[in-house]
Amino acid sequence: MTRTHILGFPRVGAQRELKFAQEAFWRAEADEGHLREVASTLRARHWQLQRAAGLDFVTVGDFAYYDQMLGMSALLGALPQRFGFDPATLTLAQYYELARGNAAQPAMEMTKWFDTNYHYLVPELAPDTTFDGGVDWFFDEVDEALGLGMRVKPVLVGPLTYLRLAKSHVAGFDRLSLLPRLVNRYVRIIDALKARGVEWVQLDEPALCVDLEPEWLDALSLAYEAIGACGVSVLLATYFETAADHAARIAKLPIQGVHLDLVRAPGQLDAWRAVLPQRMVLSAGVVDGRNIWRADLRAIVEPLQVLRAELGERLWIAPSCSLLHVPVSLDGERKLDAELKSWLAFATEKLDEIRTIALALDDARAAEPALAQADAARASRRQSSAVVNALVQKRVAAVTEAMATRKRPFAERNGLQRAALKLPPLPTTTIGSFPQTPAIRQARAAYKRGEVGALDYLERMRSEIERAVRCQEALDIDVLVHGEAERNDMVEYFGEQLWGYAFTENGWVQSYGSRCVKPPIIYGDVYRPEPMTVETAKYAQSLTSRPVKGMLTGPVTMLQWSFVRDDQPRATTALQLALAVRDEVVDLEKAGIRIIQIDEPAFREGLPLRRGDWPAYLEWAARAFRISAAGVADETQIHTHMCYSEFNDILPAIAEMDADVITIETSRSAMELLDGFGAFSYPNEIGPGVYDIHSPRVPTTEAIERLLERACEVIPAERLWVNPDCGLKTRGWPETEAALANMVRAAKRLRERLAVTA
Ligand code: GLN
Ligand code: ZN
Repeated sequence: MTRTHILGFPRVGAQRELKFAQEAFWRAEADEGHLREVASTLRARHWQLQRAAGLDFVTVGDFAYYDQMLGMSALLGALPQRFGFDPATLTLAQYYELARGNAAQPAMEMTKWFDTNYHYLVPELAPDTTFDGGVDWFFDEVDEALGLGMRVKPVLVGPLTYLRLAKSHVAGFDRLSLLPRLVNRYVRIIDALKARGVEWVQLDEPALCVDLEPEWLDALSLAYEAIGACGVSVLLATYFETAADHAARIAKLPIQGVHLDLVRAPGQLDAWRAVLPQRMVLSAGVVDGRNIWRADLRAIVEPLQVLRAELGERLWIAPSCSLLHVPVSLDGERKLDAELKSWLAFATEKLDEIRTIALALDDARAAEPALAQADAARASRRQSSAVVNALVQKRVAAVTEAMATRKRPFAERNGLQRAALKLPPLPTTTIGSFPQTPAIRQARAAYKRGEVGALDYLERMRSEIERAVRCQEALDIDVLVHGEAERNDMVEYFGEQLWGYAFTENGWVQSYGSRCVKPPIIYGDVYRPEPMTVETAKYAQSLTSRPVKGMLTGPVTMLQWSFVRDDQPRATTALQLALAVRDEVVDLEKAGIRIIQIDEPAFREGLPLRRGDWPAYLEWAARAFRISAAGVADETQIHTHMCYSEFNDILPAIAEMDADVITIETSRSAMELLDGFGAFSYPNEIGPGVYDIHSPRVPTTEAIERLLERACEVIPAERLWVNPDCGLKTRGWPETEAALANMVRAAKRLRERLAVTA
């Protein structure tokens, strides 16, 4: 019999039960007992689902009260010392202080888990971290599952990945020096599993799929020599990319199996087949754990038959990675179009797919009805006129290089734009959104529920726009925005107006802690049937003689924050999105809007895990942006916005985008990251953020002025803009007005000083 398992299941619950229990606990509205009970109910339910689907193991250890990396730190007893907590007696309340900060200490740093939208808490290690103590929650969960009579396969983040993702505040400290101690701790943990009768343990090592230096590969060998000797069978799980470069090394380790992501990296299979020793199981990750499409089961089964003949029962079937990255179940979707729904598989439905694949390998006839059903779904998707739109296809085929290029180079456009816009030096602006007050949210929700009529709603939104415009005029800001009151979310707002996009009711995916996102689904060719923002922009512009920026979300961000169709290259979908945005940009210009901002906060997120794959991505992503932007006259000024950070390694691509102005987040790093722009001699205009919008603190005029002075040292003043780090939607009005007043004052002071020295 072919064995089946998953690498992990979403932990939040189909109704986001865990989120609500966490938040009730944080607000002290429910006690720890309640939270633990909700958690235990969810775990039992998810194990039950796995068992009911006929999987050979249930996976234990994928649960987390906030995050699996924080869970590892708690298990290993490796807590940031600055909190002063005793790792042996860590309470749940303290665990949450680590995750969310307390009065004395900021939270542990959070960052993206590889190329996903999931964020983990970065372990903080020091030379004297001992990996002693640590809580037993993981073992309690194992016991809980064993107590329910489950066949348990515990999962842990592996030592290499744990260490690789950790950081240290101690300068010059090499965290690899902690490896022996860390491995010792893993050995003890695995011994404790063995004592419980556990046969298999899954160690997740996605770090094997990024570019690794030789010393890290040596660390891998060292770690698994020791761990493999424990007497529990080890399944080394790789995912998100190929691990083929390490196949020969891993084949020599005293472990019993390896898991491969054959969705992202099907090409690696041959390299593994050539070296896989007799004692090793191969877990084939063949169902996409990162996307929501129903699998093409027949296409998956066929090549697996060869593998099955070759490996016999040493072939296991699994999703490509943990199902953490997809929603729990399609059951909660009552409004989704029935045909579209038949094309989808969320986590629960993927369990059945896994089982069907294994069945097809063991007993083809028994699996036939399920395969036929999957065929029918695929066929309906392929043939649907909602998916393939002749009009869009024709437009995509007709895209020319000229469409991706502004008419004149920046140096010439710049002069034209200056003459047309007549802005002062160091012009001031904001990034787009103004505070989203409870009243705004209520109005939007009531409109969506049909409780408020279209006209009333329009009035409400217009009064918000007027308020924002008047406020900016009073503050004497140079380039205004309408404030984005009508937008719930910068992708959803546009997706809802485009063809090819669908939205779920309950398709929640954990982003971090209790926070979940509901990514829209791009299922078909994208097309903009009519203008999306033109009326709003026109109204805002009618209120003032100052330029108002049109405000759009760019094609790469639209793509990155959605579930994307898997039946054509991402680059093609990006191109379709680019054409839709381009149509809007052109219409905004026609309506008299002279500055248009195309936000691309997710541009960097799309970078592949392997550096070798970067150039291809950057090529099509920058081109998609240029196509969205280049339909306008040279007098029209195109802005883009990216709310981070590390540009240094992608600056050529940023320059390739050729936006007239780019606004970025720099206030917290005190302009450090501008240095890269300076060193690279970034040619266009830049607005480095001078106001940290993540904090309610109001920066002083002097502090902003100092940041601007720093910026002037790196970028010539005539190419600098003055703006906050990002949109202001999470802030309140009083602090926003105060901060912007200081920002304008700082800009004016510096202008005066520049005029004197000029
Ligand atoms: N224009 C958007 C806003 O101001 C940009 C948001 C973002 O960069 N994430 O809210
Ligand atoms: Zn931003």
